[in-house]
Amino acid sequence: MKRTIVLIFASVSILAAAGGGRSSITPTELKEWLTYVASDELEGRAVYTAGFGLAGAYIEDHLKAWGAKPAGDNGSYLQTVRVLGVRTTSHSTITVDNNGETKTFADGSGITLPKNMGGKRRFTVDHVDFVGYGLDVPAANQADYKGKSVKGDVAVWLGANGPKGVDAATYRRVLTGRNRYATETQGAAAAIGPAIPNAGRGGRAGGAGAAGGEGQGGRGGQIPAADFTTVQRLDTPMAPSVTADDAFFEFLFSHAPTKYDELKKKAAAQDALPLFPLQGVTITFNIDPDYQVVRTQLTQNVVAIVEGSDARLKSTYVAFGAHYDHVGYAEGEVTDGRLLGAPGRVTAGHEQDRIWNGADDDGSGTVALMALAHAFAEGPRPKRSLLFVWHAGEERGLLGSRYFADYPTVPIDAIVTQLNIDMIGRNRDDKPSEANTVYLVGSDRISTELHDINRAANAAMPKPLTLDYEFNDPTDSESLYTRSDHYSYAAKGIPIIFFTTGLHPDYHANTDEVSKIEFDKMARITQLIYDTGVRVANLDHPPVRDNLGPRAGKGTK
Ligand SMILES: [Zn+2]
Repeated sequence: MKRTIVLIFASVSILAAAGGGRSSITPTELKEWLTYVASDELEGRAVYTAGFGLAGAYIEDHLKAWGAKPAGDNGSYLQTVRVLGVRTTSHSTITVDNNGETKTFADGSGITLPKNMGGKRRFTVDHVDFVGYGLDVPAANQADYKGKSVKGDVAVWLGANGPKGVDAATYRRVLTGRNRYATETQGAAAAIGPAIPNAGRGGRAGGAGAAGGEGQGGRGGQIPAADFTTVQRLDTPMAPSVTADDAFFEFLFSHAPTKYDELKKKAAAQDALPLFPLQGVTITFNIDPDYQVVRTQLTQNVVAIVEGSDARLKSTYVAFGAHYDHVGYAEGEVTDGRLLGAPGRVTAGHEQDRIWNGADDDGSGTVALMALAHAFAEGPRPKRSLLFVWHAGEERGLLGSRYFADYPTVPIDAIVTQLNIDMIGRNRDDKPSEANTVYLVGSDRISTELHDINRAANAAMPKPLTLDYEFNDPTDSESLYTRSDHYSYAAKGIPIIFFTTGLHPDYHANTDEVSKIEFDKMARITQLIYDTGVRVANLDHPPVRDNLGPRAGKGTK
């Protein structure tokens, strides 16, 4: 029944906007599609649910009608994403050689590695840096990495609570993300710090979603509880992210200019810490896990290609992405004024609304991506090919994009740029002053050229948007750079831009609805993404990857 209705919608929109190209990207088209994608019929589009499947089928029907080429598995539009529940047996050790004295610490006694520690490998590092609190927070005058390079070194930090001025409420993500910051942003070969109480709360660092502990009963028997859930290859080497206890640190600092006892006291008082290299210390990491897959869940990305016009360049791709899942619906009833089983926030006075429609998150990106596919499929073809991926399970830990980056359906090296769209339908915090603003995250980090191309595309628009880079600031407390699907591509070295209009009171609430979407603004942002894509697709070379890191930030206009 539902599918029939879908097909009627599809044919109506084809008649309304035949011709494709930039001018086919209209508020009317976006509104028509979003009205279905964010309707109650789709049940909040939680991954693994019927509503999510309906959304995928709706996208597929349109791709077929426009003649976009299927680019999933076996000539279909769907790529199956295998979500693995994994148990780990760790034989890993860390051996510290400290000025002639040697101690070995086994995983689980003195040191702890994450359950997903990457593939087996063994390596020794002879540069170990104590980086104090391990924080760069200019707003709080904290610059522990300033003027030094820890590239290829082991970065060691202390002080779970951070220093005075970097309060846990504002900087929770920055404080809990210090190992990741050291290895991923500063290029350290490994990072070592103390345990942070409640570090897991609400965060996604360290893996794809929560461990799939809920075993299912039934005829086949109970599925064992998993230690972690992942969609990524288990043999990929990872920089060790180590949590260590007092015994480890005491030995590590035993020949240091300041001993551990004193450092620990200063850190407990949240006072300034000295920074120094640990002379005469080498550390050998023996990463030796055995992984057992105990559970496999299946979901799907929707993938399509529009071929480019240049015989040579059409084997390279400009990729566009959005996630078509959201958080679903509440299964419980209203009890004592509370909606039980809510998968997100419940807006006061809306306790009876059990469906999280996700009109902005990321219904807006889902239909913007449809508009882009439509515009390219029926409009003029640029030189490079265009790749469209509607990702599954972003809300559960970037499942679809992480899977696609590890198991791409086109060669990953052939993707010259990825443009990600997540929440482009609102004004940040509902402020009317934001009506012309779109936030760009990551555009300058990997390719300055891509950043400049996007700015030039905007400047050439009939009515340029205000480009704001506040969330690109490396110390932005929301850490948006790591929180949507582009990050999976950036981790493979692909230049990315993340487009968003920012957070608002309905973010992850049951009131993120179509009636609150600014369709004119959304169409203009989608046109900017189209123009940026066309410019990159017509370049005679891939955007240069100069990897200069985030420069545009707070206050950059
Ligand atoms: Zn989202």
